[in-house]
Amino acid sequence: MQGKKRLENIPIRYIKGVGPKMAPILEKVGIHNALDLLSYLPRRYEDRSNILSVKDACPGETQALTGTVLKSNVFRARTGTSILEVFVGDDGKKICAVWYNQPFMRKMFFEGQKVLLYGKVEKTTRLQITHPVFEIMEDEKKGAVLDIGRIVPIYSLTENLTQKYIRKLMFRALRQYSLDFPDRVPIHIQARNKLVDTKFAAENIHFPHSENNLEKAYRRLVFEEFFILQTVMALRRRQIRKKGIKHKTSENILSDFTGLFDFEFTDAQVKAIRDVEKDMSGEKPMYRLLQGDVGSGKTVIAMYAAFKASAGGYQSAIMAPTEILARQHFITVSKMFMPLGLNVRLLVSGMEPSLKASVEKEIASGEADVIIGTHALIQENVAYKSLGLVVVDEQHKFGVDQRKLLIKKGKTPDTLVMTATPIPRSLILTVFGDMDISVMREKPADREPVNTYWVGEEKRDSVYAFIREEVEKGRQAFIVYPRIKQTQASELRAAEEMYRHLKDDIFPDMRISLVHGRMRTEEKDRTMSSFRNGEYDILVTTTVIEVGVDIPNVTVMLVEHAERYGLAQLHQLRGRIGRGKHASYCILLGDPKTEASYERLSTMAETDDGFKISEKDLDIRGPGEFLGTRQSGLPELKFGNISKDFSIMEEARKEAFGLVEEDPELNGERNSEVKHAIKERFGVKVI
Ligand code: ADP
Ligand code: MG
Repeated sequence: MQGKKRLENIPIRYIKGVGPKMAPILEKVGIHNALDLLSYLPRRYEDRSNILSVKDACPGETQALTGTVLKSNVFRARTGTSILEVFVGDDGKKICAVWYNQPFMRKMFFEGQKVLLYGKVEKTTRLQITHPVFEIMEDEKKGAVLDIGRIVPIYSLTENLTQKYIRKLMFRALRQYSLDFPDRVPIHIQARNKLVDTKFAAENIHFPHSENNLEKAYRRLVFEEFFILQTVMALRRRQIRKKGIKHKTSENILSDFTGLFDFEFTDAQVKAIRDVEKDMSGEKPMYRLLQGDVGSGKTVIAMYAAFKASAGGYQSAIMAPTEILARQHFITVSKMFMPLGLNVRLLVSGMEPSLKASVEKEIASGEADVIIGTHALIQENVAYKSLGLVVVDEQHKFGVDQRKLLIKKGKTPDTLVMTATPIPRSLILTVFGDMDISVMREKPADREPVNTYWVGEEKRDSVYAFIREEVEKGRQAFIVYPRIKQTQASELRAAEEMYRHLKDDIFPDMRISLVHGRMRTEEKDRTMSSFRNGEYDILVTTTVIEVGVDIPNVTVMLVEHAERYGLAQLHQLRGRIGRGKHASYCILLGDPKTEASYERLSTMAETDDGFKISEKDLDIRGPGEFLGTRQSGLPELKFGNISKDFSIMEEARKEAFGLVEEDPELNGERNSEVKHAIKERFGVKVI
């Protein structure tokens, strides 16, 4: 708003009560300027508003009590501890406030002084309150009774920062600056959503007059924060939506595609294919997130998109996070597309240089129609002739920037991003709020659920016996370790050592092999394809197989040290089995030492539903960890909580999208503050 000071331009050290000594301490908790200070929200609040008289002291209760100082004295206990006692009374009753080892505090109390004590009332031979929070009432006239007699803010602290200090600082800063607290939501939107003004919000978020005011203040701040974020989403979406490729293909492309498969698509697949079809035929570029639990059959959708792009004369690039997965996709896709005359190519960094060079040449000349690979696809020297479709598989393994790099390899390619981590809706709107979404909750009908057991070390022999049984039935097994090699520092079992032990001592009569991330590409490929062809019974491995690997004949997975994995990771690992018609078994061998790891293992044993698991995971880990990589695109939030404040986010999103619809460049006078905030936070490139 006009006339407001920009609080972000007032350095913290110039704020009254700070100075050169306190400034670095405040900076440690992220407070660099006046805006940071006012935005430093209490961690929690304590309702100390109900002030009673000392005569109402009630043992066992935590109370705020007022009375008059009667006398004080300091003495030493036999143990050497100094004890300060201050007797406070009212109307003939009294209570003794006690401080240990703080004799100097005696100076603060005078007979006849009115004081407030806050703490838990104890009853020994007398009424007592140990180390209470206290206020000298004389201060009240200066408006500084901040610690008792109100709903009191409790801030996060750091060394040399006390509650008392920060409260006082905040109180003064609010008096000076709360009018200048930024106000970015256009006034008509504020009115429509019944938002309080920012002065009120700033004051009440720190020193709320009531629960109700606190709630209003909080809603105001969170609304504004989400509103700005969602405006960015709306702008991005508009920008992406400018003009793309209209893939022109024949009418019967869908039935041509369906005819390639020997199974029926699930309803969810049919719907997702329709979404993709509509997007790709349209004028605007596709920008779609496909969410589907492990094993829901996402690859089919990627293939449809590639099929459509090729039919319209464009190249497609499908990017997977590991070589093993890229190669698997390559096998699946080429088997199906090569006979149709499409040129499918694999590009991974471990390839032989001359082969790689020739693939790159085919990409540049346009001879390659469908290119499947890893990060190799986004290397600088890789140039595409006419990239019309980009698919990113298992997107949670990539950063936002890598996704963008691939998109930039084309002009305005259609983009399909696939993820096997079902993302709760609250996160979707925050991180993928500029995308369209298709969700596949359903799995192919012929699937048996995976039986999951969580067992301890004492069951090891019977687990081995069980693996043997399955192998004798003609099935295969994965045995997964958290590490490749055993180290002296750790007692963890590791893949290489256990591979030898299993091969020599446990399953000497079986065909057993090893694969891990540090093996050479050719070796990895060879092992994986032999295993896929049934030449091995058991594959000892690490989490390299975590993403995407699809070998339907594998019915057992043993995960060792299962307590060490995250919930999402366990679910992904388990997703490697249960992909065929046979019943399958996931055995988690582990010894949970923390509550969180206990909870992970029991959740796994309880449910197979990826959506339930990810809600749980979000609960356990919080959004940042949940999304994984640092560049997950999760914005840093000062006020809002993505899960808890979801309904506020939805309201803010609706308004933000409406606003951008009306004023796509944010040129309107009343939108200037939104524009300013966005520029400040996200740089100019958004608008
Ligand atoms: P994910 O969603 O985990 O990537 P995939 O695309 O790898 O799943 O598919 C898992 C397995 O299910 C593959 O072997 C695939 O051929 C098979 N599949 C996909 N769709 C169907 C279907 N509609 N009916 C039967 N099997 C299917
Ligand atoms: Mg997959």
